[in-house]
Amino acid sequence: MDQTGITTETPKSPWGSVAPAAPSCSLAEVMSEQLARQLDEENNSFPALSETGSELLTADEAADTTSDLMLAQMLQMQFDREFDDQLRREEKKFNGDSKVSISFENYRKVHPYEDSDSSEDEVDWQDTRDDPYRAEKPQTTPRKGFTGKGKNITTKHDEVTCGRKNTARMDNFAPEVHVGDGLGMDLKLSNQVFNSLKQHCYSEQRRSARLHEKKEHSTAEQAVDPRTRLLMYKMVNAGVLENINGCISTGKESVVFHANGGSLEEQPVPDEVVLKVFKTTLNEFKNRDRYIKDDYRFKDRFSKLNPRKIIRLWAEKEMHNLARMKKAEIPCPEVVLLKKHILVLSFIGKDHVPAPKLKDAMLGSEDMKDAYYQVLQMMQKLYQECNLVHADLSEYNILWHEGKVWLIDVSQSVEPTHPHGLEFLFRDCRNVATFFQKRGVSEALSVYELFNTVSGLNVPVGAEDEAEFMAEIVALEKRNEDHVQRRGKKTFPVATEDGGPPPLKPDTDD
Ligand code: ADP
Ligand code: MG
Repeated sequence: MDQTGITTETPKSPWGSVAPAAPSCSLAEVMSEQLARQLDEENNSFPALSETGSELLTADEAADTTSDLMLAQMLQMQFDREFDDQLRREEKKFNGDSKVSISFENYRKVHPYEDSDSSEDEVDWQDTRDDPYRAEKPQTTPRKGFTGKGKNITTKHDEVTCGRKNTARMDNFAPEVHVGDGLGMDLKLSNQVFNSLKQHCYSEQRRSARLHEKKEHSTAEQAVDPRTRLLMYKMVNAGVLENINGCISTGKESVVFHANGGSLEEQPVPDEVVLKVFKTTLNEFKNRDRYIKDDYRFKDRFSKLNPRKIIRLWAEKEMHNLARMKKAEIPCPEVVLLKKHILVLSFIGKDHVPAPKLKDAMLGSEDMKDAYYQVLQMMQKLYQECNLVHADLSEYNILWHEGKVWLIDVSQSVEPTHPHGLEFLFRDCRNVATFFQKRGVSEALSVYELFNTVSGLNVPVGAEDEAEFMAEIVALEKRNEDHVQRRGKKTFPVATEDGGPPPLKPDTDD
């Protein structure tokens, strides 16, 4: 019993009664609880601060004010807004009623799109960064000719509207006209000012076009046009040429330069070469069309080409003709390269000094006689072996070099079956016969004999009447032409090196 009493009765402490101990908990629990309380307190204190800031945010964002970063951003934004408001006030004060206004736009802190709700009550604010006139500019006046009602009517003649439109129109001026940064301001140009600016702009454009034209033209006249210069430069760059020296000749159809050869596809180019640049100014070529458009080798291509490409055909034609001459061992320049309208040829001459033309060569009578026979033989070979008529043969296109005559300038050379081939040959013969007769070569044949000797034709010389002789020649050409027509184009292989139409015979009848 006693025992029971002992166990049930709480022993009395001599120090007094002890308060019941608090339920035990870990340190971590204590800490987290404190943190939660602290956060809660912060939360409760927040509304006073975020009252203005929270308007800007969506409900979700507003709920997220627990983040320090967000809080800081919101405060910053509030600060920026106040700064911008101040800026607006200052701008307004600064501009007053002035027609030309300045903008502090670039100093704004808040980006315009964030600020969209505030722009409604601040109508005088213009965002000059995008479209300076977006806010106020009436792009088009309605058909009735005005906008607004009653006192607020604005017509298309409104000074402000007009001025702004004029300023915007400056954008259409030519790119080289500097319009300043007027487009970035709210600048209003009166009609008078705008018109005189426009006038000035047009006349400037016309003037500069004139200058430009003149420059292009003159370079083409004096030497070569910019395109050609570029081509020449490329040749030097590619190592085909070492360098391009002076100009040897400026003729009507071509400009000839002296150059030092480099190497082409690992083949050495002759030490000294000439660049024959066919002129791209087309006027002079007009009267030479007959040399190429009736040449059956080029006829088909000729009709399809534009004038610039026709010039290239000349260079190509010279190249083909020189190749034929080389084959027949006629002394002539060798073709090194053809690039568009530039033909690179071996140089006839030495140490930069071109061989003289036969006209300028100071030959004694023996040499002159020798030259005559060489020319005669050369003409025969050209006609009979190369199947070509030079068509511009004279003492100007024959060079005298190392005791030999050299034939140059064969871009216009045609085959004897060309509709005017025999007439060209006759002209060549006359030039040659006249020159050597004048230079005292007594052996020189008459023009008629020379013609027959070269061509192997037997045109009756008759009373040595040129008109009669020419009539015979023309008849021959006509007969040949009919012959060609009947046999069709295809009977003459196109552009074969040595196969051309059959040689002409005086008595060809079918
Ligand atoms: P154009 O059609 O302008 O008359 P040419 O071929 O006759 O052109 O060349 C003009 C001049 O340039 C010639 O009279 C000659 O003095 C010089 N020339 C042309 N080709 C050569 C060359 N291969 N070597 C040296 N001089 C040349
Ligand atoms: Mg010439």
